[in-house]
Amino acid sequence: MFNFEILEDYPLDKYNTYGIKTKTKYLAKPENFTDLKMLIQYLKENNIKYYILGSGSNVILPDTLFMGYIISLERLNKVHIEGCVAKAEAGILLGSLIKEVLNHNLSGLEYLYGIPGTLGGALYGNAGAYMHTIYDYVKEVLVLRNNELVRLKKDDLKILYRYTSFKENNDIILEATFEFLPSNKEILEKVIADIREKRKKLPLEYKNAGSVFKNPEGDYAGRLIESVGLKGYKVGDAKVSEKHANFIVNTGNMTSKDLKTLINIIKKKVNDEYKIELELEQIIIDWD
Ligand SMILES: Cc1cc2nc3c(=O)[nH]c(=O)nc-3n(C[C@H](O)[C@H](O)[C@H](O)COP(=O)(O)OP(=O)(O)OC[C@H]3O[C@@H](n4cnc5c(N)ncnc54)[C@H](O)[C@@H]3O)c2cc1C
Repeated sequence: MFNFEILEDYPLDKYNTYGIKTKTKYLAKPENFTDLKMLIQYLKENNIKYYILGSGSNVILPDTLFMGYIISLERLNKVHIEGCVAKAEAGILLGSLIKEVLNHNLSGLEYLYGIPGTLGGALYGNAGAYMHTIYDYVKEVLVLRNNELVRLKKDDLKILYRYTSFKENNDIILEATFEFLPSNKEILEKVIADIREKRKKLPLEYKNAGSVFKNPEGDYAGRLIESVGLKGYKVGDAKVSEKHANFIVNTGNMTSKDLKTLINIIKKKVNDEYKIELELEQIIIDWD
């Protein structure tokens, strides 16, 4: 029926960086915007559930089978750069986009070096690091809204700390246009080298999905978790990282249940001791 790849009964281990072993009934990989529109129309008309997934580096998937369509935009990965203006499709890996932008000696994304995931995921969650975010140089974003292409200027968007209004509108992000600043290789390479050093402190030897909680105003989630004595605490194979207490790592066959139990323990302990309600940065998906 469709002219692009649709896989059946597909494991999602590779589609979530925690490596939670779960499955989807269907995994669809549209090749272009028209394919995607046709797919969404079909799913809506037939009342079939769907979920857009990037690299799954900011989500907590359930243990259960998803009886619907996971849509991966990995084939929508084109990028075009002319002068300081770059246009990139949402399925491109952020790392690949950063590489392209650096190759053109442009400044604007270098501080995000090392953040896994796709451009779509970064735009959805307003990814950022070291006082810079993906939106610093965004001009506009193309989305599928109510299955129509809509071009949004940056001012049309609500962009908060790790939050954007795409969620409220059920938008599928298709493409973004950036206008970067001219720079030179030595300066950019120096920034990348510094960031590489900083990121060595993260527990990258285990599967994880980055920071679990947002930093509360004026404090750090990692500091709070460490100070209530939970560094190294384990539930099943889910463990609070010894390296960075705001990371939970999968030490083997962590289930979604282990992970969520550990999250609740952390929240309760921090709240009991500090009266601070930690807010999740990661997105718990419940498709039952
Ligand atoms: C080691 C490590 C380090 C990290 N460091 C950072 C960091 O420094 N800063 C930071 O901000 N994050 C960080 N993260 C978290 C994560 O990498 C980012 O949030 C990333 O931008 C998520 O992208 P993704 O493609 O994996 O999104 P996913 O996890 O696949 O999806 C996240 C959400 O975005 C939605 N989404 C994805 N693509 C689209 C689309 N095209 N249209 C609409 N919705 C979409 C999904 O439905 C989901 O709700 C880190 C993660 C890891 C594992």
